[in-house]
Amino acid sequence: MAKADEVFDIAVIGGGAVGLATAWAAGAAGLSVVLFERQPLFHDGGSSGGAERQWRLQYSDERLARLVLAAVPAWRRLEHDIDRPLVHRTGSLWFGDIDQDSNEGQIRAAVAVLDRLSLPYEWLDVKDIESRFGFGGLPGHYQGFHQPDGGAIDVRATLWSLYTLAVATGARILPEVPVREIRPTGTGVQVVTAAGTTRAGAVVVAAGAATTPLLEPLGVHLAMRTFEMPSAYFRLRDPAQDYPTWFAFEPPEESGDAHYYGFGRNPWGHRDLVRVAPDSEANPLPEASRATGVARDADLRRLSAWVDRHLAGLDPTPLAPSTCLVTLPADHDRAFRVGRVPGAERVVYCTSGWIFKFVPLLGQVCVDLAVHGAASADVAELLPAS
Ligand SMILES: Cc1cc2nc3c(=O)[nH]c(=O)nc-3n(C[C@H](O)[C@H](O)[C@H](O)COP(=O)(O)OP(=O)(O)OC[C@H]3O[C@@H](n4cnc5c(N)ncnc54)[C@H](O)[C@@H]3O)c2cc1C
Repeated sequence: MAKADEVFDIAVIGGGAVGLATAWAAGAAGLSVVLFERQPLFHDGGSSGGAERQWRLQYSDERLARLVLAAVPAWRRLEHDIDRPLVHRTGSLWFGDIDQDSNEGQIRAAVAVLDRLSLPYEWLDVKDIESRFGFGGLPGHYQGFHQPDGGAIDVRATLWSLYTLAVATGARILPEVPVREIRPTGTGVQVVTAAGTTRAGAVVVAAGAATTPLLEPLGVHLAMRTFEMPSAYFRLRDPAQDYPTWFAFEPPEESGDAHYYGFGRNPWGHRDLVRVAPDSEANPLPEASRATGVARDADLRRLSAWVDRHLAGLDPTPLAPSTCLVTLPADHDRAFRVGRVPGAERVVYCTSGWIFKFVPLLGQVCVDLAVHGAASADVAELLPAS
């Protein structure tokens, strides 16, 4: 714990991907930093649990595509500093009804952005998708594209790398210390935990689904929707078969599930298992603390039936089922939430959305907001309005 008279430049609340990236960026900038995580580190109960995330350049919103491109140098630096690859480039396949909207965007709009940014892709009809990528039983009007720079992020190695590099800069990372309250003062903030009160020049709240209750006493309500999304692994019938990362845009089912996504074999994963999941908003939680961490049988049955219909290369028995806590802004037009608390500008927040792919860059953004009051001009114009 911090000594009573110690004052840190930055306190961080939350030891998920965003909090750890902020601690690394702050430490690397020569700032003193303390991070509080209420659970043991690297737990699976937040939004950074599990083994892999999709890496993709295509977005329906051009600013987000440019934000991923802006994150590339930050990923390269992280990979360089820790001396291991973290983003595995397998290509990214999007297919389905090209006008169908989803959490991830829309095929037609994303292709328009790829064109505008002169990013490479190959347009595919249903025959290409089935014969070249191992899918089957798709409606004849389905189309899509393959973008060669997409792939999968090694989640656990990324968290471990951010933690290791942050600690190497002198950052103090304190697991199992829940933060109860943030008190802005004239010159900074006090962060109140069960173990005492810590003083800092600024605080970055990266508490995922629990960010809203921490900010509400400061007069900010970040409206969010939270879900437990199930997923499972499936055994490859032929271990020589592989897939790019993929996303299928389908019309909604009665259950509320519409879209499915999946991964190929990851170098860090099991040799003959691949992950497939519904992109489902079917089971919203009234509050994040109600998450069970257990995939429901009905969800797994639907997932297994989808795999059976469309992925002949996989045994449809779901293995190692799990859930992950997804927090998205309530406003569907907003990709994620990042900003400073009005009237308490030393309090910065960054939460929600599909933001793993931006993480090393967002750590820097949070530090810039906390220290300079603004992100660098080239990145600031790409961030969603706070
Ligand atoms: C199923 C699923 C699939 C996803 N797919 C993708 C994808 O393909 N691509 C992509 O880019 N993103 C994806 N995401 C999103 C991405 O994983 C998240 O945006 C990212 O991990 C969020 O990290 P975080 O640090 O903001 O939140 P979290 O990982 O939830 O971290 C918040 C931390 O704060 C801690 N905390 C909370 N309250 C307190 C407190 N009071 N005191 C101290 N600590 C506290 C929590 O314990 C937690 O560890 C996916 C997410 C899920 C769940």
